[in-house]
Amino acid sequence: MKYPLSSPSISALEKRYVNEALDSGWISGTGGFVTRFEQALAAKVNRQHCIAVSNGTVALELALQALCIGSVYGGSAEDEVIVPALTFVAPAAAVRAVGAKPVFVDVELSTWQMSAFRVAKRITPRTKAIIAVDIIGLPCNYDELYLVADGIPIIEDAAEAHGARYEGRSVGSFGDITTFSFHSNKSVAGGEAGAVLTDSDELAAKMRLVANHGMTPHRPYWHDVVGRNYRLNNLTAAFLTGQVERWDELTTKRQQVAHWYDERLTELFKTTELARRHVPAWSSESCWLYTLWHPERDRILAHLRSCDIDTRAIWTPLCDLPLYAESCRGDYPNARRIGYSAFWLPTSAEMTESDVKYICEKLREVL
Ligand SMILES: *Cc1c(COP(=O)(O)O)cnc(C)c1O
Repeated sequence: MKYPLSSPSISALEKRYVNEALDSGWISGTGGFVTRFEQALAAKVNRQHCIAVSNGTVALELALQALCIGSVYGGSAEDEVIVPALTFVAPAAAVRAVGAKPVFVDVELSTWQMSAFRVAKRITPRTKAIIAVDIIGLPCNYDELYLVADGIPIIEDAAEAHGARYEGRSVGSFGDITTFSFHSNKSVAGGEAGAVLTDSDELAAKMRLVANHGMTPHRPYWHDVVGRNYRLNNLTAAFLTGQVERWDELTTKRQQVAHWYDERLTELFKTTELARRHVPAWSSESCWLYTLWHPERDRILAHLRSCDIDTRAIWTPLCDLPLYAESCRGDYPNARRIGYSAFWLPTSAEMTESDVKYICEKLREVL
């Protein structure tokens, strides 16, 4: 399509770093750029430890594994982990992958986030963690979540919120463990890549160990734990080092695109049912994908797609996936209402104001 949903921004910097990595001959999971990327990201979001991994989904598995959750890694098959009913599927899949049970919590109609109040109602003696997803660029209310968590670890999934802030502080610094994805459609992108961050020396050491075959440091081919190979390769790390150095530029440009959309849609927000999500005062959004909702979404999508605009419906609410039927507790009216009316418009750092203008014109046409 002429207007893709999202496309990466690749500058001379990333090319230079990838060439340096190629010239060095280090193309697997060991190499200078892996460490360089880890240090740059830890500094960017203000964390003690960062471990680069191959994608955002294994980052979540690694976090759960480090916390000994699930039957596969020393916990129990009865372990429960709270997950929002409206999110990309990875958090729920990661919980299942470690042999534990996701428990879905409905989201608020205003912020599309799980409120602490709703989370509290789903906490049981079996609850071993809460996965707080900074959904579509909006951070969770961490003060409230930590209050109700009362010692239960919070895993912050910041895959969609590079550059967002909660009470002035950067996303990525809130979870007992935070995970990022750098999939190519995320705001900071490496193709396929992820990371886990924490301030705990113990959790960091454990995650580093597991991600590298469980191989005891300084004792080659000695394994005290069942490890995995979650390592990020040095070529992708080189590319990502460039992206992390361009973090502010990349996130600011997307914010600018959102601003152009906002300006051009103000009128439609007043005169039609088209709406944006509410941004509460305690947070500032970063724009991952510009998101709207409207009760007649499918009609809008059909028209825009026929105009070569790659707009898409957001995820099926997880509570409606038969695979996860056991994770439902009660009803999920808000996740459903949002899930069946929200959609994304093309959003990339390299988009121009005239791209946005064209897309908004087509949107006006159909409304
Ligand atoms: C994209 C995404 C992930 C998974 O990332 P991958 O790198 O594609 O595995 C996890 N959680 C959320 C909320 C995401 O949006």
